[in-house]
Amino acid sequence: MDLRIDSKVTLNNGVEMPRLGLGVFKAGSPRDTRSAIRWALDAGFRHIDTAPMYGNEKDVGAAVRESGLARDEIFVTTKVYEAAGYDATRKAFDASLKELDIDYVDLYLIHWPNVERVACWKAMEEYLAEGKCRAIGISNFTIRHVSAFLEAVDVVPAVNQVEFSPFLFQKELLEFCHARKIQLEAYSPLTRGRRLDDSRVVAVAKECGCTPGQVLIRWALQHGLVVIPKSSRKERIEENAGVFDFPIDSEQIAVLDSLNEDFRVCPNPEDLP
Ligand code: NDP
Repeated sequence: MDLRIDSKVTLNNGVEMPRLGLGVFKAGSPRDTRSAIRWALDAGFRHIDTAPMYGNEKDVGAAVRESGLARDEIFVTTKVYEAAGYDATRKAFDASLKELDIDYVDLYLIHWPNVERVACWKAMEEYLAEGKCRAIGISNFTIRHVSAFLEAVDVVPAVNQVEFSPFLFQKELLEFCHARKIQLEAYSPLTRGRRLDDSRVVAVAKECGCTPGQVLIRWALQHGLVVIPKSSRKERIEENAGVFDFPIDSEQIAVLDSLNEDFRVCPNPEDLP
């Protein structure tokens, strides 16, 4: 598979989305967050994933504006969280745009499915039509959520952002979304560091001459996902960007595919009220 740091997927509405992004959940102080984004852009990342609940949209926007890169060279995702319906979503989106202080977001997601999701979506479809976001999507939607959602909405979500790693190998969801042209995006791809010392991951890393974190990112990329590892440290950001010069072969992929244990660092969306 020919993957490069500037590789992109084409979403179902034609918008191109970089395969690798920087997550900024708990990225630290405003200064730390801005530094992390600067290092990431220097390392070749062109995609930042934020949300109002991370409290750093302002810093993301500032880092994008101060980067010296054209706005259309950086893909920015933010999300709507706990918005109870149409009006609340419009308000939340306006607040995000104001915080970010950029003209448009590239991808706007429903953060968790336990909201009035169809009413939220109506507002999001309008923003899409108005050009204030280039693509709209969902997050933490299971097969059950996606199926019901597709029956109720007009615009098919471009992306479903979910927790995904070899230890939570959501193969059925991946196939289900792929068949419906919904791009799956992996959050917490590094298991927040909790499975990086797994002996089977370490063994693959040794074989490939890379680090366990790189193995997990590369595995998700080779499964066709967009991947958004978070780090606030320069050396790790560079490490996470360095996943394009070694392929993982089919035997190694099979080893990693066998590690599923339904391990999650975030709540299971099926357990939400
Ligand atoms: P990750 O799996 O990306 O892990 C991040 C943790 O791993 C941090 O503690 C980081 O520490 C550490 N780390 C990063 N790189 C390495 C490395 N190469 N080697 C060892 N440790 C490393 O977890 P996240 O939960 O942050 O997920 C990534 C992003 O996904 C989030 O930042 C957010 O943008 C998004 N997300 C979305 C959710 C949703 O509901 N839609 C839920 C959760 C996350 P350090 O910073 O010190 O390097």
